[in-house]
Parts: sequence; structure tokens; C-alpha cells
Amino acid sequence: MTHLMTTYKRQDVAFVRGEGAWLEDSNGRRYLDALTGIAVCGLGHAHPGVARALADQASAVVHTSNLYRIPQQERLGDRLCALSGMDRVFFCNSGAEANEAAIKIARLYGHNQRDVARPTIVVMEGSFHGRTMATLTATGSRKVQAGFEPLLTGFVRAPYNDIAAIQQIAANNNEIVAVLVEPVLGEGGIFVPAADYIARLRALCDDNGWLLMLDEVQTGNGRTGKFFAYQHTGVMPDVVTTAKGLGNGVPIGACLARGVAAETFAPGNHGSTFGGNPLVCAAANAVLDALEQGDLMARATVLGDRIVNGLRDRLKGCNAVRDVRGLGLMIGVEMNEPCGHLVAAGLEAGVLINVTRDNVVRLLPALTMSDQEADELISRVSGLILG
Ligand code: PLP
Repeated sequence: MTHLMTTYKRQDVAFVRGEGAWLEDSNGRRYLDALTGIAVCGLGHAHPGVARALADQASAVVHTSNLYRIPQQERLGDRLCALSGMDRVFFCNSGAEANEAAIKIARLYGHNQRDVARPTIVVMEGSFHGRTMATLTATGSRKVQAGFEPLLTGFVRAPYNDIAAIQQIAANNNEIVAVLVEPVLGEGGIFVPAADYIARLRALCDDNGWLLMLDEVQTGNGRTGKFFAYQHTGVMPDVVTTAKGLGNGVPIGACLARGVAAETFAPGNHGSTFGGNPLVCAAANAVLDALEQGDLMARATVLGDRIVNGLRDRLKGCNAVRDVRGLGLMIGVEMNEPCGHLVAAGLEAGVLINVTRDNVVRLLPALTMSDQEADELISRVSGLILG
């Protein structure tokens, strides 16, 4: 590890194979994976459909270029638009890149459609949008930004889940062109906003000619019980970004847009060498096959309810626990004190978890888990928290 840049504090364990909800380390020990590589392997590890698609595509052609047509990408674009109601897709390699595309769309829209000199995007406190300069500027965490100043201009920040605060900001700023927001805060502690928050943001955007841009990098691809979390709300965004679960482990990101936002980019405005190459699109098409065939999105809701209820039951009366909450298989257990030590303790106990915002145990398990595996997760995680 000495030649790796010190960007991560890594646990001293290496996983050598996986199957479904389980990972095995280099000593042959098995772990129940309640994290799935931070919401990436939604279908579990070594999914046969994805493995087959990757092997078949790898032996046909891995990469050509976006200078040519890519049938796997065209098919994936059609399917994503059918699933989401959006019009067009730009493919890239990560969540941050998908958000970069959204930010560029907002700026072009501001200049071309709204004739604004300094197009400005409303972003939220507690949000996470990535580690590139634009996306870390958009991110609502000083920890992520500190040391990388000067940050970009063109962003104003509002508290999450607070419509009145945005109205107040807008009263003094006529250069706002878009709102960028997560439908559920992920890194920000699995915070589910008021049921009408996204609909009220939609109305605000409509009244002011702003684009509503949703970051579904973590919430997307079935994790919350719908393909995209906004599909719980009855409103359509203008732009939606995703990544994580789309490739079940291969790096792929997507920025989807609708209406005027979908027509903003012209050739030369944006691009990506690797984005949407045949290999990653073959994997993502296999992910969509599995999501559709297995009715896994409905399953995410059932499993999520089972886990949240199971944890609430087991943790009832535990003074260290402030709240157990979630949407589908985005689940958070908020503790009264910082609880980062539970990650290593979980490893000891054979369950992989994450802690975010210092005091929230975050669970992002596979949509393919059995009921028994979900019960095992409840048992191991509650055991960990109860000590
Ligand atoms: N947006 C959200 C909501 C995320 O949760 C993340 C990653 O955790 C990102 C963006 C950044 O994605 P990536 O790490 O793929 O760049």
C-alpha cells in the first residue's frame, strides 16, 4: 500500500471473491455485505447475468470510441429513457462525472436560454456530489472542500428540505438557473425529506424557469424501491444523474435530461473517451434485465421495510440509538455519539457496514438478498450496535 496515495483509510482486509450478499477474504473468511461497495453491487457479487454479459462482450469488442455508433450504448439509452421518462442520456464513468455533465447543462442553459451572465445553481447543505472541483464545490461539506480553495463560483447554498430558504435566496439573486439536489441524502446521513419536498421544488423551478436536477447517483437503479427515487414523488426532473448501481461494479455514470435540457449540448460541448463503451453498456444492460425480470425494485421495498422494522424492534430501548430510518434499501441508524469504530467492529463480527456523517450507520445491501440473509443482517448489525 505504500505506493498508493493516502486518499483512503483502508481496513486491513482484502476480498478475493464474492457471491450474492457475501464476500470472502484472502483467509477464506466470509462476510455478510451490507454495503455492496457503497451502493454499487445492487444485484450482489458475481451476478451470473452480469458476469456472462461482461465475458461475452470482452471477447467481442471492449472499446471503440464515441466517434462511432455503439449499439449497446444506444440500447441502454433507449431503455433508461423508457424507465425514467427522460429524453436523452450522456454516458460517463462515475457519479462525479455525471454531475459535471448536469452542471455544464445548467450553465449552457443559463447562457443560451436565460441570457444570464453568471448562471448560478442552488445546492444543499449536507449534500454530496463528488470530488472533482465543480462537484466538491456543489457538495455541502466543508470537510470535502477544505484545502482546495479557490472553489468555483456559480453556486449558492440552502438548507436541505427547506423551500422557504430557497425562496429567500432567490429574492436577492436573479442569476439562478437550476437546483441540484439528492432526493434522499446519502453521505449526508440517509435523510429522507418531507414527502412533498421534490414536488415543491418542481413548482419553484417551474415558476422561475429553473432546471430541476436530481442527483440519483446513490438513490438510483432500484435501490429505493423505484428505478429512480423521484418516481415516488409524481414529478419529473429536467435532469437526473446516476452511476453506482447502474453497472453492478463496472464504472459507468449517466446524465439523463428531458425537454429543453436534453437539447442543450451540441457536438463539441462535452465528451468522454471511455463513457458508455461497449463493455460497460453490456454490463448495464444486463443489470436492467435482472432488475426487470426479478421485480427487484418491489423487492427492495419489501426488504427495506423488513430490515428497518427488524432493527427498530431489536434496538428498541437502546439509549445510544436516536433513529432508524430509510427508503427501500438505503437505511440509516443514527446514533447519539460518533460511531466510526463500528466499521472495524463489524468486520470482526463478519458484517460490512459504513458510518457516514460521523454518527450514522449506513446500510446499502443487495436487492437480491433472501429473507434469511436480511434477518442475518438485522441480527449482526443490531448485535454490533448493542455491543
Ligand atoms: N453523488 C452522490 C449522491 C453520491 O453518493 C456520490 C458518491 O458517493 C457521488 C455523487 C460521487 O460519485 P463517484 O464517487 O462515482 O464520483
